[in-house]
Amino acid sequence: MKAIVIGGTPGTGKTETAEILSERLGLRVLSLGELAREHDCLSTHDDERDTEVIDEDCLVQALVEILDEEGEDIIIEGHYIDLVPSYRVKLAIILRTHPDELKRRLADRDYKEDKIRENVEAEVIGVCQLDALDAFGEGRVVEIDTTGINANAVAEGIIEQLNSPDTTVRIDWMQKLESEGKLDQYLD
Ligand code: ADP
Ligand code: MN
Repeated sequence: MKAIVIGGTPGTGKTETAEILSERLGLRVLSLGELAREHDCLSTHDDERDTEVIDEDCLVQALVEILDEEGEDIIIEGHYIDLVPSYRVKLAIILRTHPDELKRRLADRDYKEDKIRENVEAEVIGVCQLDALDAFGEGRVVEIDTTGINANAVAEGIIEQLNSPDTTVRIDWMQKLESEGKLDQYLD
């Protein structure tokens, strides 16, 4: 049994895309955020950042238990995909979104300004990309640019990647923003 994992900065469309993919492929979705909540792995609340902090050991344990029981392939989506045991991972898909669009999506979701800035900065730097490359290696990480395409099209892209993964595409928003003359806007 193998996992297709979908990662990315909040707002890149993991949850929505995973639901569509689940219907198309007939595979169940495991949401790491929900799993953490169900297993009480959200230990402390970081008031300053207005966010929950997860207990990683707790989540890994919950994950391993579920994966050991699961017979079918599974889709795993969430912000902590690098915690999924590497030997279970078939392919890691990192959703990417141009910072201008990500900012709009998070504002539409009523995120506070600080949280928007923190998440957009993480996307500019490529934190999720780097974590996934570290955890699973170049050959099992593909990136999909979700900018300007809806979640159906993103799911379609994932299906193509599952059939023949292209692990040569690396998205670099720093370079892109630099060429658009916008990098100063994003990094202070
Ligand atoms: P995540 O789980 O990565 O935080 P969600 O799936 O919750 O992201 O999507 C965040 C917001 O962006 C939602 O309002 C969703 O409807 C919207 N969204 C998701 N995918 C796309 C997309 N490809 N294009 C535009 N908006 C999207
Ligand atoms: Mn989500």
